[in-house]
Amino acid sequence: MTHDPCDRCEELLQDFLDRTLSDAEWREAESHLAGCDYCRRRYRFEETLRRYVRTTAAERMPPGLMDKLQELRGIDATA
Ligand SMILES: [Zn+2]
Repeated sequence: MTHDPCDRCEELLQDFLDRTLSDAEWREAESHLAGCDYCRRRYRFEETLRRYVRTTAAERMPPGLMDKLQELRGIDATA
């Protein structure tokens, strides 16, 4: 067993947000999220980001917004 539960949770993240998980996977993700603050925050952030991207997709992104988002994700866009 090399599987870290948080790695597993990350694997499920995109499908979780797409609502395309199987029942078993869904339960797996939910039960992990219930006990893992770290993943819960990540999921919430990704969900917020997706909603934001969806609602603003038709509009032009203000300059610097992408940098800001990447900064929030912990990626240094200027590096
Ligand atoms: Zn976790």
